[in-house]
Amino acid sequence: MDVTIQHVNKTFGQKKVLHEIDLTIPSGRCVALVGPSGSGKTTLLRLIAGLEKVSSGAIHFGATEMTRVAPNQRGVTMLFQRPLLFPHLTVGQNVRLGMKAGHKQEVEQWLDRVGLSGRADAFVHELSGGEQQRASLARALASRPNFLLLDEPFSSLDLPRRRELRTLIRRLTEAQGVTTLLVTHDREEAMAMADYVYVMEQGHIIDQGNPVQLAEKSPFFGDGVHLSGEW
Ligand code: ADP
Repeated sequence: MDVTIQHVNKTFGQKKVLHEIDLTIPSGRCVALVGPSGSGKTTLLRLIAGLEKVSSGAIHFGATEMTRVAPNQRGVTMLFQRPLLFPHLTVGQNVRLGMKAGHKQEVEQWLDRVGLSGRADAFVHELSGGEQQRASLARALASRPNFLLLDEPFSSLDLPRRRELRTLIRRLTEAQGVTTLLVTHDREEAMAMADYVYVMEQGHIIDQGNPVQLAEKSPFFGDGVHLSGEW
């Protein structure tokens, strides 16, 4: 299902933080929202998640206006900067929480997919930061979401772990056909992961294109970016 955002404005009190945002996330694709801190990325993500209301404009999931879909029918799941796991539960129990009817075997399959085979009975504190983030990803995808919203999901990780998780997320979301929005201040990350990139500044979309178009347009975008090779 496509997500379509049309003429969206968002105001907090007197402060206008989003101006006439138009954006589409085509079904099954990965779109990135990149821009400096305070440019409005997280606010837009929270609007799509239904955690905030638009001041004006519309968000559609497919043909249906978002507010007409009950929150538990939206199929939206999020992955944040820090892994969100219940520390008093095992890794397997955390993953199972994401499922409607979780069987042990299916939990194992998800752990396999994220490279955590045999760790179902470990407690969360026994995992490294990168492993916890992968367990969070397993839980998020085990819920079979239509939409995955990623809010700076790599920022607590070192570069090799970051690259590893990027590749893993792309591989799994492509395999499951999950429509993905990535919010990041890291241009390289946006370029490496997304099919299409929107650039935000002070609540406006100031540029957009696929990674190749953006690299051609702005040499800054091309800096140190390997458009192929990583996956
Ligand atoms: P980014 O994710 O790009 O860092 P945000 O969407 O978090 O940007 O913030 C955009 C602007 O909106 C900032 O100026 C921020 O202070 C403001 N803002 C975000 N949430 C709120 C809120 N709940 N109340 C008031 N202002 C907010």
